[in-house]
Amino acid sequence: MIWRPFTQEKITPPSIKVVKGNGLYLYTDDGRRYADMISSWWVNIHGHANKEIAAVIAEQAATLEHVIFAAFTHQPAEELIEKLKTVLPKELNRFFFSDDGSTAVEVALKLAYQFFKNRGDDKRKIYLHFEGAYHGDTYGSMSASGKHSMYHFNFLDFFFDTIEIKAPEFYDGVDGLEQQEDASISELERNLERYGQRICALVVEPLLQGARGMVMHRVEFLERVVKMVREYGILVIFDEVFTGFYRTGRFFAMDYLCEKPDFICLSKGLTGGFLPLALTVTTKQVYERFLSNDLRKTFIHGHSYTANPIACAAACRSFEILTRENTIAHISEIKAFHKSIRLRGVQKRRTFGTMTAFDLPSKESAKRLSDVLLERGIFLRPLGNMIYLLPPYCITREELEWVYHEMDECLSKL
Ligand SMILES: *Cc1c(COP(=O)(O)O)cnc(C)c1O
Repeated sequence: MIWRPFTQEKITPPSIKVVKGNGLYLYTDDGRRYADMISSWWVNIHGHANKEIAAVIAEQAATLEHVIFAAFTHQPAEELIEKLKTVLPKELNRFFFSDDGSTAVEVALKLAYQFFKNRGDDKRKIYLHFEGAYHGDTYGSMSASGKHSMYHFNFLDFFFDTIEIKAPEFYDGVDGLEQQEDASISELERNLERYGQRICALVVEPLLQGARGMVMHRVEFLERVVKMVREYGILVIFDEVFTGFYRTGRFFAMDYLCEKPDFICLSKGLTGGFLPLALTVTTKQVYERFLSNDLRKTFIHGHSYTANPIACAAACRSFEILTRENTIAHISEIKAFHKSIRLRGVQKRRTFGTMTAFDLPSKESAKRLSDVLLERGIFLRPLGNMIYLLPPYCITREELEWVYHEMDECLSKL
């Protein structure tokens, strides 16, 4: 029997059986069709069963399916790195492969700590993060999400030390945001004065905390935070597992900032939603701290499927599709469409790139809305009382109009 992720099996109805995907749609064994309006947990950026990506996967599988990455390299991995270099800041040019978002973060956390240790400084053991962060489900990435995480409370006993900073929510018509930001900055300042020399890294989801509930931060705020921690020699990790690959309207969320991180974590959209693959990208300065004749300074970490060639080939093709003029034009259209539509009876409306979200008065009303929409062929997955739309980039204007129309109608009946 299958045990589902993030699911209370006792009260959740059986899963819907999907037999086929095509673009925005999923098709079931009983002949129904659902628009996947959350890109299947945010990974599926080009729509389902994209034929181009499917074709390169078939070709790569018949050419070289996998090879140990500690002793060999291959064209798909090298090509992927070259492609990503064209969109990354030039300082971020050392690439460590792993399998999913959690491991991409795990790698960054371990590298940041060992960076100082290799330098002879083993006092930097604390990580800094925002309230409500979500960085994955392994022990390290859970710990970095903090003690008040709504996801990981069962495992608090095992968490390492972190300092949590409040991060104000930015949404349409928010009041007193700057005062709240100033309060966060003062809190950060106090912590830095006290613990600054004991913190190894700041880890953040830049500008948009996904799993917290699509919580946005202002560019000016994050910029201040990064500048401040840098003054204490603290490394900066941007977890772009969710925000990467044009989700926020630019290739990376960090492209909105002047300050750049020491690490960026990528996964989710990397292969266009076809296969698990992840990257932790860092700088020459970090990389060189691990070069030594002393083997203990090695980064002793790896996964069986590190840099799987099929996944890398899928990622290369996904990148090509993503950087085409018409895809980028389409992304701008989705963004403009989200912005242009008002919704009645919703709270804290916020839109960032291809994502739009709002709150409803209760968890129950969010569940009711998604249940009714499911009957009408639209799949959403509320997070508590928050509803969000996060379509694949292939969605058409007509499809967006249809989804908003259905949603508006259901909202007015709630
Ligand atoms: C989903 C997510 C992760 C974890 O990725 P998995 O592939 O589910 O392990 C980490 N960070 C962020 C910001 C995410 O959204």
